[in-house]
Amino acid sequence: MLMQTIPDTLTKLEQLGNTTRFEPSGDRPQVEQKRVPYQSRSLDECITNVVTPKGKKPILKTMMTTACERNCFYCPFRAGRSKTQRMTFSPDEMAGAFDTLQRANRVDGIFLSSGIIKGSVTTQEKIIDTIEIIRDRYEYHGYIHLKIMPGVEYEQLYRAMQLADRVSVNLEGPTQERLSALAPKKDFMGELLKMLQWAETIRREKPYQKLAGTVTQFVVGAVGDTDHELLSISNRLYRQMGLTRAYYSGFSPVEQTPFENLTPTDPRREHRLYQASFLLRDYGWNIEDLSFLEDGNLRIDIDPKRAWAERHLLSAPIDVMKADRRQLMRVPGIGPVGATAIIQARRLGRLTDLAHLRKLNIRAPEQAAPYILLDGRRPATQMRLF
Ligand code: SF4
Repeated sequence: MLMQTIPDTLTKLEQLGNTTRFEPSGDRPQVEQKRVPYQSRSLDECITNVVTPKGKKPILKTMMTTACERNCFYCPFRAGRSKTQRMTFSPDEMAGAFDTLQRANRVDGIFLSSGIIKGSVTTQEKIIDTIEIIRDRYEYHGYIHLKIMPGVEYEQLYRAMQLADRVSVNLEGPTQERLSALAPKKDFMGELLKMLQWAETIRREKPYQKLAGTVTQFVVGAVGDTDHELLSISNRLYRQMGLTRAYYSGFSPVEQTPFENLTPTDPRREHRLYQASFLLRDYGWNIEDLSFLEDGNLRIDIDPKRAWAERHLLSAPIDVMKADRRQLMRVPGIGPVGATAIIQARRLGRLTDLAHLRKLNIRAPEQAAPYILLDGRRPATQMRLF
């Protein structure tokens, strides 16, 4: 029976191809496959190399169904789009296909999403059933990242968090107004933000259980959303709802959708958003520390940390021998690891030139040079030949 079922399912997966290319599944979405016009059709296209909390892995990135009853304006799976090939898997089929690929060493992990059919609760149940088969029947203990459908039940979210390493609740837009312009049938507070709040409540109520981290994704640049809006909500999620990571997915128009004639988002905007988001999450920055242009966006031409340093440190450089960790992390080129290394090294001796910083594994101390004092002076910089 299995021998008959599995090849069919793999063929179906193959036909599905790279359906989830709009959804980042790993920690470095910029290095995931480029978004190309929807034209999949090989099993390799369902497999993406991603950086996960458990290391770099080839993971199966796929959907329970490519049919959907909702009509988000940017989405290739929206109801009524005739160019989308609709395909649906049962939990047994999907779990069996994953097991076959995993045992053949083709994949080590799964990112499972879905279009919505018969409501979010029914759809989420199918996702959970699939993963229970993978975890229990096939005894797979590796990386699992699950999509949470909008407005599922509390117990479903809890179960998904027990089974997975990561769960995604995609807000899509930074406010209800932006979300309505992107996805008219989605409810920002009641269906999406509530899921992220619940996830944090679950983690706090069960501190000793191993539960999935939560991530979210925004579609950037289709409906006038600003970087200030996107980063403000991201900051709130990091601070109040224990969000692991926000993903910023530059809008890319899909043929035969209401947004097909909109301009794609400049990829540099995505990049600046990630840089700013890391400053908020990992460097203790506040929204007020970031400088926004009058239109509410970051500058594209300069990274946000350098923009801050240009304003504040050029005239008041940081003394590397005296600054605290937080001050050191304000300097371009010095991150949390570099700041810790500096503090440890300066207990043992003076840091007097850029070569000392390089020995501490600060890879490009020249970047820091205009904003610091070493031995009480601005360090001399040399052009690097290689
Ligand atoms: S609910 Fe998801 S799959 Fe359905 S149209 Fe919206 S984004 Fe696409």
